Amino acid sequence: MQDINYLNIQKLNNLLSEASDIAIVTHMKPDGDALGSSLAMYSFIKAAGGTARIVLPHRYPTNLGFLTEGIMNEDILIHEECESEAAKVIEGADLVICLDFNAFHRTDRLEAALQSSKAPKVLIDHHLNPDRSRFDLVFSETMVSSASELLYHILMAMPQTEGKAENLPKASVNALMTGMTTDTNNFANSIFPSTLQMASGLLAAGADRDLILSNLYNMFGESRLRLLGHILKDLMVLTPDGVAYIVLDSGTQKKYNVTEGDTEGFVNMPLSIKDVRMSILVKEDGNRARVSVRSKKGTSANRCARDHFNGGGHENAAGGKLMIPQDIQDIGMAGQYIESHTHTFLNEENEK
Ligand code: 5GP
Ligand code: MN
Repeated sequence: MQDINYLNIQKLNNLLSEASDIAIVTHMKPDGDALGSSLAMYSFIKAAGGTARIVLPHRYPTNLGFLTEGIMNEDILIHEECESEAAKVIEGADLVICLDFNAFHRTDRLEAALQSSKAPKVLIDHHLNPDRSRFDLVFSETMVSSASELLYHILMAMPQTEGKAENLPKASVNALMTGMTTDTNNFANSIFPSTLQMASGLLAAGADRDLILSNLYNMFGESRLRLLGHILKDLMVLTPDGVAYIVLDSGTQKKYNVTEGDTEGFVNMPLSIKDVRMSILVKEDGNRARVSVRSKKGTSANRCARDHFNGGGHENAAGGKLMIPQDIQDIGMAGQYIESHTHTFLNEENEK
C-alpha cells in the first residue's frame, strides 16, 4: 500500500488537526462499505476531539441502521432529505474527506458542492482510476477488499493508534468490520492477506461479528426471500454467450416491497452456474435503470460497465445505469439491450 507512507500519514494528521469543520462524503446509494468507512472516520475524528459531519447523497439501507446508533442525528445529513443543509455542510467545511468513490460524479447531486468547495480534499478509495487531480491527498489502493480496509490500515498508521487496533474507537471497529464484510460478501470475494490481518486485528479489538452478521443478513422481511424465489425461477435469463441477467421492473419491486439493500447479493448468485461468465441485475429507478455487473476472472465487469452501461467499478464487480428513454425506450427493452451489448462486448473480449 504505497500511499500509506510516513509523509502522507503526517499530511493527513496535520490536515485533521488543523481543521475545525470536517465533512465526510461518500457515494450515492451508500452501501455497507460507504457507510461503514464514513462512520469509522467520523468516530476516529470525534475520539480525537475533532468536529465532523457525514453527508450522504441518499439514505442508507435500514439493515445498516445499527451502525448509526449512538451517533448524533445532526451529524449525519442525507442530501435527498435536506438538500440545502447538506450542501451547506460541504460548502462550510475546511476539510473534506471522500470515502469509497473515485470521482465527484459518483456522489450524484453533491457533485456541484464538491466542485465549488475550496477546502482541501482527501480521497480514501479502492476503485480503479481515481480522479487524482481533484484531491490534495490521495490514498488509493485497488488490491484491498474495501475502502473500510484501506481506512483501517491508514488509521493503524496514525500516531494516536500506535499500530494497535484496540486503540481505535469501538464504533470505528464495528463500522470497519461491517464495510469489509459487505464488500467481500462475507469473506467470499476480494480477500487479500491484508484483509485477514485487518479482520484479525478488529476481532481482537472487540468487533462484534454476531451483531454485525445478524443485522446484515438475518433481519430481512419475508417478501425478500419470496422475491429471490421468483427471480431464480422465473426472471433470470441465460444467454448463449454465458451472461445471466435479471430485470426488476418497478411493478415487481412494488409487489415484493423491495427497499434499498433488499437485492444486495442477488447479482452474485447466477455466477454459481458453471457456464455463466457474467451476471447483470437491472433495477428500474424512475427515469433510469440501475445496473449491477459481476464477472468471473477473465471477464471484466469493469470494462463492460464502463463501455456499455455508463459506469465502472472494480474488475469483477461494477455498476452503471441505463437512462430511460435515452438508452432504452422503456424497462421492457432492457433484456434486448443487455443481450446485444454483452454479445458485442464478449466478442471484443474474446478477440483480445
Ligand atoms: P453495485 O453493483 O454493488 O451497486 O456496485 C458494484 C461496484 O461498482 C461498486 O464498487 C460501486 O462503487 C461501483 N459502481 C456502481 N455503480 C457505478 C456507476 O454508476 N459508476 C461507477 N463508476 N461505478 C459504479
Ligand atoms: Mn467499497
